Amino acid sequence: MSIFYTIEPVHPAAHLFGVTLVVDNPSADGERFSLPTWIPGSYMIRDFARNIVELSACSNGQCIELVQLDKTTWQAPPNLKSIELTYTVYAWDLSVRAAHLDQTHGFFNGTSVFLCVESQSEQPCHVTLLAPQDSSLSNWSVATSLPSADIDGQGFGRYLAQNYDELIDHPVEMGTFERVRFDACGIEHQLVLTGKFKTDTDRICRDLKKICEHQIRFFGEPPPVESYVFLVMVVGDGYGGLEHRASTSLLVKRDSLPVPGDKTYSNDYLEFLGLCSHEYFHTWNVKRIRPACFIPYELQQETYTSLLWAFEGFTSYYDDLSLYECGLIDRKTYLTMLGKSITRVYRTSGRHKQSVAQSSFNAWTKFYKQDENAANAIVSYYTKGSLVALSLDLIIREKFNGKKSLRDVMRRLWKDYLATGEGVKDGDIERIASEVYEQDLSAFFEQAVYGTDDLALENYLESVGVDLAWRAAEGQDDYGGVAGSSDKPVLSLGARLATVATGLRLTAVFDDGAAQNAGLSAGDILIAVNELSVQGGNLEQLLARYSVGDTLTVHAFRRDELIQTSLTLREPPLDTCVLSLLDDDSRIEMWLPGSGNK
Ligand code: ZN
Repeated sequence: MSIFYTIEPVHPAAHLFGVTLVVDNPSADGERFSLPTWIPGSYMIRDFARNIVELSACSNGQCIELVQLDKTTWQAPPNLKSIELTYTVYAWDLSVRAAHLDQTHGFFNGTSVFLCVESQSEQPCHVTLLAPQDSSLSNWSVATSLPSADIDGQGFGRYLAQNYDELIDHPVEMGTFERVRFDACGIEHQLVLTGKFKTDTDRICRDLKKICEHQIRFFGEPPPVESYVFLVMVVGDGYGGLEHRASTSLLVKRDSLPVPGDKTYSNDYLEFLGLCSHEYFHTWNVKRIRPACFIPYELQQETYTSLLWAFEGFTSYYDDLSLYECGLIDRKTYLTMLGKSITRVYRTSGRHKQSVAQSSFNAWTKFYKQDENAANAIVSYYTKGSLVALSLDLIIREKFNGKKSLRDVMRRLWKDYLATGEGVKDGDIERIASEVYEQDLSAFFEQAVYGTDDLALENYLESVGVDLAWRAAEGQDDYGGVAGSSDKPVLSLGARLATVATGLRLTAVFDDGAAQNAGLSAGDILIAVNELSVQGGNLEQLLARYSVGDTLTVHAFRRDELIQTSLTLREPPLDTCVLSLLDDDSRIEMWLPGSGNK
C-alpha cells in the first residue's frame, strides 16, 4: 500500500497549488479523504478544506463521484482498486499556519494541501514537488525538513514521509530565498530567509548556533533531529512562529533583522532571537514531550488540554532565559525583558478570573479568539505560564542552592518520553516537580496553575537577590521592565486608545477604570475632553493639567450617536514591574550565574 502526492505551484498569480493524490487499495467500504480542521501548535479551528477550489476523482481512467460527508471529508465509491484525486488549493494566507503562493514564492503546511487517506494514515506518503512551469520562475528552489528521496539540485523531486502525521509536520518553502547553513553540536541547521531584506545572515547564524547548542545541551546530547530548518518569511510588519518536529516557520518584520555591521542587540532583534529560541525549545517541549491527548493528534475537532501552561508557558520562560544562559545578553537586559513579561500579566484583571489551566482548556475559543474584553476576562497561558515556570525554578534553586532547578524537571520529562514515548497527563508535572523538589508541591500548583491569586513573585525573586518594584505606567507605550523617568505618573483613562481621523478610538476598556465608570465602551471614539479636541494625540498633555479626583466632561461618538458624560480621574494602577539586582547580593549566582556575556 502506498500513497503518492504530487504538488505543483500551477498558477502563482491566482494563488493556486495543484495537487494529485493516487492511492492503491483504498478501503473497500469507500475510502474517505479529509483535511485537518486545525494545525498542531495553533489551537483554533481553521477549516483548511474551505480553500479546496476544485476536486475531482477517477479510478482506472474513469471519472468517479465523490460524496461530500461534511465540511472537510469526501468519500469515494466502494470496491475500487485505486483512486486518483485531482484538486486545487487556494493559497493566499501569509501566515505560518496555512499556505501562500504568488510570483515571489510558495509556502505550504501539509495540513492545508494534503488530503488524508483515512484508512491508510499510517502508510508511507510519497510526495513529488514539481517546479513551476513558468520559465520566469525557473530559478526557484525548495527548502524543507521533509526527508528527500530523489531530488534535483534545486530541491524539486521526490520526498518521503513515514506516515500522514509526519507528512503534515514539515512545511515547505519554494522560491528564491537566501539559505545559510551552520552546525550546532554536529547537526546541520539551515537558516532560510524569504522576502525583501538586507541583513547580516552570518551574524544571525552565529547567534542561532549559540541558542541551539545551549538548548541541545539543556536536554542532553544528542538532539532528537538529524537536521533542522528555520524557515523565515521577512515582511514589512508581522510576527509569528509555529513549531515542527525538525523545523519552524517564522514570520518577522524586516526591521527586526540586524543591520549589516551593527554589533548591538536591538529590542526587535532580541525579540526575533527569542522567537527562534522559543520555537527551537518546542523541538523537545510539545513536539515530543506532549500532552497525552495529542497522541495521536485528533485533527477533525478541538482537542482539549489543561496543560498548555506547561508547553507554551515553560517554553516562554526558557526562550528568553536561554538568551542569557548562552551568553547573548547580560543580566540587566534579561531582567528588563522579564519585567516586561510580568507587566503584561499584571495589566490584565482577567488573571483573577481565569486560571492558566482554564486558559489552556479554553484556548480554542478564548485565547485564540480574543476580543476587546480579553484583558478583563482571560489570562495568557504563555505569559502567566512563564511566571509559573519562573516561580518553580526559583523555589527549586533556592532550596538546593542553585544545584537543582526546573531544568531537572524538564530533563525528567524528556527522559520519561525517551523511555516510553508516552504523553504527559494532568498531574504528571506536579508529581515530577515534587520528586525533584523532594517535597510535595501540590499547594504551589493549586495556587499557581488552578488558582487565580497572584504568584508570590516578590518573595521568589528576593530569594535570588532580585528586587521587584511596582510603579504606574507613564503612557501607552510604557511596557515596563525599566525604572520610570518622571515623578508624576500619567493619568490614564483605564482604556487602550488608538488614533483615528476623528479622535481616539477606545480599543479596550478595563474593568473598574475611569472610562468604564464614565460609561464609555470599546469602539467609542473620544473626541473632546473638557470641550477641547483630542485630535492630534494631545490627550496626555491635556490630562497632565489635572489631578486624581478631578471630574472632566468628555464627548464621544458611539457609532453615529454623540455621548456626553463625566469622567473622574483615578489613581493609576501600580501595574508596571521593575526588576533590579540587590546590592552585593551573591544569591543571584544561584539563578543567573556569571555576567551573561560570553
Ligand atoms: Zn509556542
